[in-house]
Amino acid sequence: MRVTAIIAAAGAGRRLGATVPKQLLEIGGRSILARSVAAFDTHPSISDLVVVLPADLVADGAVLVGRTSRPVRFVAGGATRQQSVANAFDALDEGSELILVHDAARPFVSADVIARTIAAAEAHGAAIPGIDARDTVKRTVGSADGRVVAETVARDALVFAQTPQGFRRGILAKAVALGRSGNDATDEASLAERAGFAVHVVEGDAANVKITTEEDLTRARRRMEEGSLGRVGTGYDLHRLVDGRPLLLGGITIPAPRGAMGHSDADVVCHAATDAILGAAALGDIGRHFPDTDPAWKGASSLDLLARAAKMAGERHVIVNVDVTVVLEQPKIGPHLAAMQASVAGAIGIEPGRVSIKAKTNEGLDAVGRGEAIAAHAVALLKERP
Ligand code: MG
Repeated sequence: MRVTAIIAAAGAGRRLGATVPKQLLEIGGRSILARSVAAFDTHPSISDLVVVLPADLVADGAVLVGRTSRPVRFVAGGATRQQSVANAFDALDEGSELILVHDAARPFVSADVIARTIAAAEAHGAAIPGIDARDTVKRTVGSADGRVVAETVARDALVFAQTPQGFRRGILAKAVALGRSGNDATDEASLAERAGFAVHVVEGDAANVKITTEEDLTRARRRMEEGSLGRVGTGYDLHRLVDGRPLLLGGITIPAPRGAMGHSDADVVCHAATDAILGAAALGDIGRHFPDTDPAWKGASSLDLLARAAKMAGERHVIVNVDVTVVLEQPKIGPHLAAMQASVAGAIGIEPGRVSIKAKTNEGLDAVGRGEAIAAHAVALLKERP
């Protein structure tokens, strides 16, 4: 059976205090809309998608949603939810036999909920996921500031309806027709009920929340952050110190009697930080990506290489923080640490507060202690992008 998913994202709701519609707000680096679309685009039972957007965003639909593996059509929504779903219904391919209607504001819908809804709609004609009411439910009378309980409703029979809601095409056609003739409803199932069809309930998922308030958004973002895995990497670098070379650290030139020798600008802070970031992302090391035998990197600034490495790692990871220790006998680099921090943070693309650079001497011991070399150690923490 050919299954099409309609993603209802036509609401211009800015009630989350944002300047963009709420479905375009990001959670863990991806918009709510893109997450909802991806949940269906990656589901093995879905053939194609229709995404309903506010009219002024339809032309940008493909950009907003990102790359998909199934065909996606974008249609403009109407003034009400009924009109929006009706517009999507009109845009359905002739071959669509079963249609799921999903609120874009539920980006955490699971593949299991989608599969259960499809199976029940296929078997019974119409199905929705629902979760049991756990709290005691009261019906009230009066206004917001003076409500009184009129009745305690028997909880056993109650479920909270979620989406996707699944319908055989003929049933959704009747529901849409009812909506078109002015019947108001907050979901498609209630129109199907009014049209006389039995809507079956399958087990929903408490994680399939609808993001409506600022609090919902904050909670969803926190959940994403906690859920993503942290990864650490270490980096180390050492260069010989020689006369007649500048001393470059973190992209900042430090006034010094001697500088670090190397094919490159020999910036040990950037080299160690680059290796720490690449290491945390399991992407190899600086020599693999920027070999000094390759003319492309001859004379390249190490700060630029650090920026490139951060971008590479950033495709799948968020860089949380970087900590660097420079080991050098002299000069004292304390006065330059803040500038180095800002410079490194700028290259990585994170706030300066997430970069730490410290200095140590080697107490006169070994080559570093004798002032023949400079070394740096670095640690980076990355988090996988959800
Ligand atoms: Mg080096």
